[in-house]
Amino acid sequence: MQSSKTIMETTEKYGANNYHPLPIVISKAEGVWVEDPEGHKYLDMLSAYSALNQGHRHPKIIQALKEQADKVTLTSRAFHNDQLGRFYEKLAKLTGKDMILPMNTGAEAVETALKAVRRWAYDVKKVPANQAEIIVCEGNFHGRTVTITSFSSDEGYKRGFGPFTPGFKIIPYGDLEALKQAITPNTAAFLVEPIQGEAGILIPPEGYLRSAQQICRENQVLLVCDEIQTGFGRTGKLFASDWEEVKPDMYILGKALGGGVFPISAVAADRQVLGVFEPGSHGSTFGGNPLGCAVAIAALEVIEEENLVERSARLGAYFMEKLKEIDNPDIRELRGKGLFIGVELNSKARPYCEKLKGLGLLCKETHENTIRFAPPLIISQEELDWAIERIKQVLTVS
Ligand code: PLP
Repeated sequence: MQSSKTIMETTEKYGANNYHPLPIVISKAEGVWVEDPEGHKYLDMLSAYSALNQGHRHPKIIQALKEQADKVTLTSRAFHNDQLGRFYEKLAKLTGKDMILPMNTGAEAVETALKAVRRWAYDVKKVPANQAEIIVCEGNFHGRTVTITSFSSDEGYKRGFGPFTPGFKIIPYGDLEALKQAITPNTAAFLVEPIQGEAGILIPPEGYLRSAQQICRENQVLLVCDEIQTGFGRTGKLFASDWEEVKPDMYILGKALGGGVFPISAVAADRQVLGVFEPGSHGSTFGGNPLGCAVAIAALEVIEEENLVERSARLGAYFMEKLKEIDNPDIRELRGKGLFIGVELNSKARPYCEKLKGLGLLCKETHENTIRFAPPLIISQEELDWAIERIKQVLTVS
């Protein structure tokens, strides 16, 4: 096998420079553990940005993948396949919504949501043609397409990519007054992350989402929750919006929906909203493919059967208590729900991540100053204690 050094050199030589990975090559993985070509083991505390809630290569999900791969992998939507309906039913029951629209990546599901709410605004709310507005929040992260980039507030995501898509208003995150002020008769939707992941695990004030829902209802505005990163147990509830007992008009889902095995994303909403599509108005060659659907059904079953939501809540609370014991003036704030925890520092987070890597623990900084800890939800108490010991070692001032 090639050495990590050679592999990284080849990758950097031929690859576009749009990522800045930690210098480690992963060539094997199982559960919460990954291994490099030299045989060094690391505990994964990033979980591929929460796509691996069920852990690496969960046996049930891999079995579903193999069994389906032996039958049929892709039909396109020109024909029916025998897995799509099962997947729809499973996800519809889990979200409590009437309808599902499947895509592949998170950004595609967000694009799908944007199209759906715009159509709904014209067809149902009777907004004048091409006047629909969508309200989003500062610090949002919803993906990387041109339209999604259009309403980012991060200049680094936007530079050189214009002209941008119009029709979006950006308001401060957590500010209900700003939401009220931003709504006009042409507002189609409020698109929000219940917890902002990429922005550094930012948790809005308690009651924010519930009141936002109320404001949306009063103004015939759809509440769309992007739960791509926060969904499927990550925050200690099935969906982060459950913390506020909010059922949004539309869920945008991805990442862990595919169990870290296959890219599959979806939006879930009631018929009144998702019913706006007719054949030909939206789609994707791979969206709803039987391989992805079989994997997603297994991935959802694992979350239920292994009580991963409850586990995330319990171990997340324990993890947070342990982090609070660390005495270091460089720690500005600890934020988190479930196994979704951010440690914001006064200094840069990357050197800490590099030190943790040296001790066998993989995590990644987000927005320069925050270390994000988001291990697979299958992590055991012993494995978590192993990680906490190393985190304490690196974060404690001697
Ligand atoms: N929305 C949120 C909240 C995300 O965290 C991400 C990815 O990090 C996305 C959308 C985009 O998903 P993808 O990278 O699969 O396009």
